[in-house]
Amino acid sequence: MTSYDIIIIGGGQSALACAYFLQRSGLNYMILDDQPMSGGAWLHAWDSLTLFSPAEYSSLPGWMMPKSESKFPLKDEVIAYLKAYEEHYKIKIQRPVLVKDVNKTSDGFELETNEGLYHCKVLISATGTWKKPFIPKITGAELFTGKQLHSAHYKNSDDFKGKKVLVVGSGNSGAQVLAEVSNVATVVWAVQSKPEYLPDEVDGRVLFNVASAKYHAMQSGKEFDATQYSLGKIVMVPPVVEARERNALLFNLSFKAITEKGVIWPDGTEEMFDVIIWCTGFKYATDHLKSLNIVDENGKIETIETKSTAFSGLFLVGYGNWTGFASATLIGVGRSAKQTVKMAEEYLNLNIED
Ligand code: FAD
Repeated sequence: MTSYDIIIIGGGQSALACAYFLQRSGLNYMILDDQPMSGGAWLHAWDSLTLFSPAEYSSLPGWMMPKSESKFPLKDEVIAYLKAYEEHYKIKIQRPVLVKDVNKTSDGFELETNEGLYHCKVLISATGTWKKPFIPKITGAELFTGKQLHSAHYKNSDDFKGKKVLVVGSGNSGAQVLAEVSNVATVVWAVQSKPEYLPDEVDGRVLFNVASAKYHAMQSGKEFDATQYSLGKIVMVPPVVEARERNALLFNLSFKAITEKGVIWPDGTEEMFDVIIWCTGFKYATDHLKSLNIVDENGKIETIETKSTAFSGLFLVGYGNWTGFASATLIGVGRSAKQTVKMAEEYLNLNIED
């Protein structure tokens, strides 16, 4: 069995941010990632996906993402940056290693992988959400004979030319997929609640500043007036602005059932579709931790900041606000990673003295 002080499961931006601080600590660590190459979830994003913020607002700790020709860096530029970051800091990663199961031992954790058993004293799970696309349960979904896919598996609009497509979901994925597919197909947008758009001039920088203001208010015990910052959800990236100009951002409130050929709208009428694209979000990719009996139905685990409340040597990084403000972003995860490595060091020192 291979043994380390710390193992990080994952290999995306969150794992790299943790590794940056671990490299400085001199602890014996290893990242295990099931992908064949660098990039984490960005490897699977649709071809035209860009960041919400310019490069200088999208960097991991220590080393800035190079400036992009476009205002917001492209998916391939993000992947290239993550690869270069790994090389620059000589981050220790084994790929592809899939962690199938984790069990508690008297002095840490035992990991069952496709490459055999690993042991560590501290475990950091940084596996993101991409592997857990969420599709709501809707009556009749199994009857539909057309094509259904989740945005997690959407690449580009090539397969949808001339088709009748239903895009479901009022978040950023829904708006961006609708914007792209409506250039080549007849698209209807189904949403549960009215889409809320950010002003055109507001991008990810502002969202990050809001998250920071909230974080600092909470740290200093001050009241945070969320209404003052209620800006909306959808970032007006250029393709969404362009779709608005074409009058393509029309929406219908959600359907009540799916049929063999389409959907039934709330007024009882049926409309036919060739394709349904679900842009309905994700759960958390924590199946590998199920044997620890701490994972809820959404994949969430009870934590204080990133530290599991059930097991002191277990940390969860990068999943969203429940593991640290803005921790699911390139710029935000650095703060969570720094705190996590500090807590892990304290935990290991305490254990050595025991
Ligand atoms: P991931 O990138 O998902 O990496 C996790 C890694 O762990 C993957 O390689 C995965 O295969 C691996 N893994 C999972 N399970 C196991 C296992 N059992 N064993 C081994 N390996 C495993 N973020 C920004 O910062 N800026 C943006 O502008 C931005 N825009 C976005 C737009 C959209 C539409 C979406 C959907 C996301 C956007 N994000 C953005 C968020 C960002 O893509 C993710 O939050 C980010 O990829 C999370 O990083 P991570 O390292 O936590 O997880």
